[in-house]
Amino acid sequence: MFENLSDKLDRAFKVLKGQGTITEINVAETMKEIRKALLDADVNYKTAKAFTDDVRQKALGQNVLTAVSPGQLLTKLMNDELAELMGGTTAELTFPATPTIILIAGLNGAGKTTFTGKLANYLKTQKNKKPLLVADDIYRPAAIDQLEVLGQQIGIPVYANRDSKDPIAIAREGIALAKQNGHNVVIIDTAGRLAIDEAMMVEIEQVKAAVNPHEILFVVDSMTGQDAVNTAKTFNDRLDFTGVVLTKLDGDTRGGAALSIKSVVNKPIKFIGTGEKMEALDVFHPDRMASRILG
Ligand code: GDP
Repeated sequence: MFENLSDKLDRAFKVLKGQGTITEINVAETMKEIRKALLDADVNYKTAKAFTDDVRQKALGQNVLTAVSPGQLLTKLMNDELAELMGGTTAELTFPATPTIILIAGLNGAGKTTFTGKLANYLKTQKNKKPLLVADDIYRPAAIDQLEVLGQQIGIPVYANRDSKDPIAIAREGIALAKQNGHNVVIIDTAGRLAIDEAMMVEIEQVKAAVNPHEILFVVDSMTGQDAVNTAKTFNDRLDFTGVVLTKLDGDTRGGAALSIKSVVNKPIKFIGTGEKMEALDVFHPDRMASRILG
């Protein structure tokens, strides 16, 4: 994960690490290298600039120059600041009601349906919950099939209504069934499109208004870099979602989405997808991710 970025940051720090004393110029040059590494990793320009300006100021403010091991101090500062950039603390899911209603949104191919299955599996096996899945895509019967297959695989029921063309009604029916059968979490997998489309946005806004979800998780493919961030912004403007799920972090992703999304949309990353299997889901910990990036 993020090997390229890690390598480049490591190289940027090399100059400082070995030195007993460093100068303001050393720090400025290192920050320039770090900014380049971030831009190469597809981090949004404004984010990269604000980040390095901030680290530089803090480094000088903390008297890094006169510290015993300035390189080490700067690495620690970088670690803290990277974690902060990605949200600071872990953002847990909340379960304020029974059933707790979770709406899943995103473009086709982002990994929505896979994540819906993974989340249900995680809640069942790690959080002792009893979820019900709702297949709320009225356009692609294959999406319903896919969720049903996943449901069977993880032993979690799926509500679908293949005769209905009304996503609001399907969502409501699913919630009613959950109440009837004692499910304490309802996860609604909504329809996506290949690109942002007004009809899809209106539909999901209507589903949101009808079911009043406690969590709206926006699923996005981390491989799409800046596009991921732009898509997140559009969805957030319309839906005011509660968290981001970054998928496909097991692939050859450069890291831009993970590093920029929080500062652009001001919503936390809650989960990361690290593979196609149902177990390949991690709660997102900004501090651990920062350490991983810095190697
Ligand atoms: P949806 O259209 O948004 O519902 O997307 P799907 O859930 O159908 O996922 C699209 C493709 O991405 C499928 O082939 C999934 O197996 C794959 N996928 C989803 N999440 C991940 C992930 O975290 N890592 C990898 N490598 N593949 C994933």
